[in-house]
Amino acid sequence: MLKVLLLAILLLLPRAAAAEAALGLSRAAAEDRFGAFSLVQAADGTMWRRDEWLARPAGAPAASEYGYLTVAGDRTAAVWLTYDGQDIVSRVAVILDKTVSFRDLGSVLPALQAAAADPGTNTFLLRAYPRDLLAAVIPRPGGDLLVTFDNAGRRDATRLNTHSFVRGFTVARLTAAERELMTMADNDGARTARDGSWRRIENFLAPGLHFSEQLVARKRTDMLVIHHTKIENMTVASIHDLHLRNGWAGIGYHKVILPDGSVADGRPEYAVGAHAIGANSHSVGISLVGDFDVNLPSPAQMASLLALTAELAGKYGVSAANIVGHRDVYKDTTCPGRIFPWAEFKQALAKKLPAK
Ligand SMILES: [Zn+2]
Repeated sequence: MLKVLLLAILLLLPRAAAAEAALGLSRAAAEDRFGAFSLVQAADGTMWRRDEWLARPAGAPAASEYGYLTVAGDRTAAVWLTYDGQDIVSRVAVILDKTVSFRDLGSVLPALQAAAADPGTNTFLLRAYPRDLLAAVIPRPGGDLLVTFDNAGRRDATRLNTHSFVRGFTVARLTAAERELMTMADNDGARTARDGSWRRIENFLAPGLHFSEQLVARKRTDMLVIHHTKIENMTVASIHDLHLRNGWAGIGYHKVILPDGSVADGRPEYAVGAHAIGANSHSVGISLVGDFDVNLPSPAQMASLLALTAELAGKYGVSAANIVGHRDVYKDTTCPGRIFPWAEFKQALAKKLPAK
């Protein structure tokens, strides 16, 4: 299975890179790359097989797009090319036979994701029929590229997120009119552009933590809840991934302390977390990477935990009694671990916190 998957990715990789590279090619060069076309979409919307097209009657409508079928491992992709009046490729559309989610796009189409993750890339929601599209404007010398993603199965634009499925994508150079609309949306931040067809959104294609729902600000903070990840060797990215798979908005902890003692940011600190049922609305969640049912946290982790809890307690005015382990607010867990040195930690903390 893995072998098949790898083969599929390897075969699809040049295809993804080719999608952008095909822009500007002559028809002969494009057919050199993709082989002979198999389908034609005529200007009146009718579809023709190659043999039908070659034998088409006089007076048949002009061709609008040519389709090239390609086999990519266990995936089939159709590449649709549009030629301009000089027979130069002006638009490339790729349709996959299987959908892939935005967040997994990089594992299937790394070249495309790398381009879309360019810091200069802006992403927009393009209002379209029958469903809205995620559109990315990728800066390129010689003219910005417009990539639109066919996010299959999502009719409600407000629900477009990292889980949304991509069935295919289209690459073209931006037209002057599109550029003008984009510039307006750009200047306008979150507001809608003049005709309402473009709305700036988060770039789900860039690396980073994308939350699948709008996060909610916490109204009060009077508790710090300490956890362990239970699974060794986790990173913020892998915790985020796991929590997304749980169906949550994303990583549920606000701070993560790695085995080397470094502190990483998880969910934004202002937001309600997803780490301790019953306490999320009024607490900050801190998780140490490790399984402290069987191992001890590293001295560096404990030193960082002490410094971080003292800092957050000072910032929010949290009392020592309200710096708790997950198991203190939820009975069905041993978190932050059976052998977590809780008593030592609380003693050390008591020395650091001002007496109340
Ligand atoms: Zn926990």
